[in-house]
Amino acid sequence: MMGPGARAYLGRSLERLGVEVRAGVQVTKVLPGGVELAGGEHLDAEATLWTAGTRGLPLAAASGLSVDPRGRIVVDAALRSVSHPDVYAVGDAAAVSLPFGVLHGTCHSGVPMGLHAGDVLAGELRGRAPRPFRFGYFHQPVSLGRRDAVIQFTRPDDSPRRWYLTGRLAVAYKETVSNSPFPTFRLLKRGLMPVRALALTAGAR
Ligand SMILES: Cc1cc2nc3c(=O)[nH]c(=O)nc-3n(C[C@H](O)[C@H](O)[C@H](O)COP(=O)(O)OP(=O)(O)OC[C@H]3O[C@@H](n4cnc5c(N)ncnc54)[C@H](O)[C@@H]3O)c2cc1C
Repeated sequence: MMGPGARAYLGRSLERLGVEVRAGVQVTKVLPGGVELAGGEHLDAEATLWTAGTRGLPLAAASGLSVDPRGRIVVDAALRSVSHPDVYAVGDAAAVSLPFGVLHGTCHSGVPMGLHAGDVLAGELRGRAPRPFRFGYFHQPVSLGRRDAVIQFTRPDDSPRRWYLTGRLAVAYKETVSNSPFPTFRLLKRGLMPVRALALTAGAR
């Protein structure tokens, strides 16, 4: 998902840390002593960490809510379930369609979704029509231990821009964002963060 510069930095950092990367291979079996790859190759492992994406909990479908093939609750522009408009869904549990595609789960999108649903509910109690949720991605922060990180800045559709941060500066950036998502988001919303930062998220709230 990152641009070539950030990707190359990430590759060098992993190499320095002694991580061997096997990209583009498919795991077909997870076994007690390792994994088996397509083609039959066996990789020994004392521990296997499976990070193959997320899916919604079965509870949503079992409740009769419309869900997508990954079990996420399908919502309209205002984050209401398309089958049950009195139910709002936010975060990883929701399948939110925006002009550039369906959002993938991050706290980056989950926090504004939660705030939006709260705003809309409060508005509804005052008789206001629900407003559509607008969002654009801004960055992809990746920690590489305590002393290194890569931050890839992105367009609203999550495609990489030219700019990225690395090393200590990237660590400081990620620490700030991860330790204070609500204050950071509120500052952005109130326009107290540099206007330039808001302009980068063109199309986003
Ligand atoms: C290892 C890891 C690293 C990540 N790193 C990042 C990152 O660096 N940046 C980023 O933006 N995102 C990151 N994410 C993604 C981010 O954590 C999620 O997108 C975010 O937590 C989603 O928030 P949520 O509130 O929608 O769901 P969750 O945080 O999953 O909260 C759902 C809650 O519902 C509870 N629950 C489930 N079923 C029931 C039930 N039946 N009754 C009551 N409660 C229930 C669960 O226990 C849980 O507490 C990471 C995720 C993982 C797993």
